[in-house]
Amino acid sequence: MDISMSNNVFAFFGGKIVPEERAKVSIKTHALNYGTCAFEGMKAFYLGKGRWNLYRLDDHVSRLLRTCEVLHIESPVSHDEVSSAVIRLVLRNAFPKDTYVRPMIYCSHEGIGLAKWSAAKFAIFCQPVRNNRLRELNATFSRVVRIPPAAVPSVGKITGMYVNSYIAQREVVARGGQIALMKDINGHVTEAFGMNLYMVKKGRCITSPLSIGVLDGITRRSIIEFCKRDLGIKVDEKLYTPRSLYTADEVFLCGTGAGINAIVSVDGRQIGSGKCGSVTSRLSRFYRSVTRAKQGGYEKWCNIITRS
Ligand code: PMP
Repeated sequence: MDISMSNNVFAFFGGKIVPEERAKVSIKTHALNYGTCAFEGMKAFYLGKGRWNLYRLDDHVSRLLRTCEVLHIESPVSHDEVSSAVIRLVLRNAFPKDTYVRPMIYCSHEGIGLAKWSAAKFAIFCQPVRNNRLRELNATFSRVVRIPPAAVPSVGKITGMYVNSYIAQREVVARGGQIALMKDINGHVTEAFGMNLYMVKKGRCITSPLSIGVLDGITRRSIIEFCKRDLGIKVDEKLYTPRSLYTADEVFLCGTGAGINAIVSVDGRQIGSGKCGSVTSRLSRFYRSVTRAKQGGYEKWCNIITRS
């Protein structure tokens, strides 16, 4: 490999680690033309001294491979091969920061023809990101509804599916909003454009069920387990309406990229005290401690990798 070509950022492409600028696909690629790429968003939390925690690596890889099934893609790589490539790439880049990791398995056919599929390909890039801090955000319901699961199953992340979230967010921002929330076709609350949504009422956490077509978020799942196992908070997965959300005590968003963030208003209506609530800040502290590998009992989700 010619290191002089590199800007010192590496990607995994064509079965090996290469300088990122060499990880390029043709404009004729099926995935670019039709959105046929299964992908993941995972994070290597920086622990200092050349150590990272690849949080819930196995669960992210399992979801990636399930997404391939939805797309009728036969993965060119096994579960272990994905995991090992992710670890190698994070260590090769060794950003002294939290690192967002984006593995992709995509339809690589080149040329016109939606119904043409040739062997899928595997690639990964990663990017250093800022430490999450708990923010207080304002949310607005988009006029765009979430794609129903009967149209595209929502078990995993498919690039083409994100046109839906992208339009919702652009539409809300164009109206002066900050974060787009989406309803389903029947008017029930689903999630935010790229994060799962919870509300807190009378000390219980409530979130929409997967059957409505929300992403089976790894952070959403983590929160359910924290609440049930450690924090003594009851969780209900049930349908609810925007009207019910408006009268919540607390509302928060969760996802790998942004962590946990409080929503302090929805459609201009103040939520609770208009500040981050106590359940949200408790969960945020707990999530931080688990992802920084400081919380006993969660070793099963921590994959600590060390630069030699
Ligand atoms: N919902 C959507 C639509 C997402 O894109 C994401 C991930 N960005 C999430 C929820 C959160 O999922 P996870 O906790 O697995 O990152």
